[in-house]
Amino acid sequence: MDDDSGSLFSALMGRLFRKTDDSEVERFILEAQRDGELRGEESAMLLNVLRLSRRQVTEIMIPRTDIVCAPADNSIEEMALLIAESGHSRIPVYRKNRDNMVGIVHAKDVLRALTQPDEFPRPARAETIMREPLFIPETKNVYDMLQVFRSNKIHLAIALDEYGGTSGLVTFEDVLEEIVGEIEDEYDTPRPEDIQTLEDGSVLVSGRTPLEELDERMGLSLTSDQVETVSGFLCELAGRVPDPEESFAIDGHTLTVKEADAKQIHWIVLRRGDSPAARNH
Ligand code: ADP
Repeated sequence: MDDDSGSLFSALMGRLFRKTDDSEVERFILEAQRDGELRGEESAMLLNVLRLSRRQVTEIMIPRTDIVCAPADNSIEEMALLIAESGHSRIPVYRKNRDNMVGIVHAKDVLRALTQPDEFPRPARAETIMREPLFIPETKNVYDMLQVFRSNKIHLAIALDEYGGTSGLVTFEDVLEEIVGEIEDEYDTPRPEDIQTLEDGSVLVSGRTPLEELDERMGLSLTSDQVETVSGFLCELAGRVPDPEESFAIDGHTLTVKEADAKQIHWIVLRRGDSPAARNH
């Protein structure tokens, strides 16, 4: 970044974080890019910052079923294995079930406990070394989430649903990715693409794909006031979680459930055209 665009960039960041009228700032950024005062990636980042306050934690969190967690009475050795296997450095721990998270175990505390048996007499348990979790409502917007991470100096939070149950997990890295794009550290297992074209021309779609993204990529017009994802959309249509192989004819396309569990659809296959077996919507 040269000096001029550097100072413009920080001036814009200042304005964004003071929350000026969004559409005015958006126009300003796009004009600056058109005039060559901002580079493409700079304006993309700034637009992403603007959008933070329009996105909810639910849209970026790791859903409850994918959280790597453990019972609070697990031994320190079991925690060490879980950290090594999963590659995650912080593991939420629960009592009874995942809806009752009671602490977060950090890899460095596990290391300390393993190497200082005098201070942590055996049998040492996860609950001996766990730290207090940061809980936030799943409806929090991502901009506010960033502020919470900054003010608490804690970079992992457990999102709760309206009944106080665990809804997901969100980290500082998830928020940063909303601004700068996907970050992969040396321990991250790459997540499969949400939308993949298969050899026969059909398209494999992850259930967690936002409706807006699918519409944009596939030229569909699926909308809902209630749900954000394709899985949520089909569950809403069916009034329950549809079974694998169930098909829906929507918008000139057939959406067939490929993989689902009791709570959500994981994968859907999308084909152009109607199939006789599909339910019409
Ligand atoms: P780590 O390097 O310990 O995995 P990061 O904050 O760098 O932690 O997060 C990387 C990604 O892994 C993020 O998408 C985050 O939500 C996810 N993640 C972190 N901890 C866990 C966990 N215990 N279970 C599932 N996903 C996790």
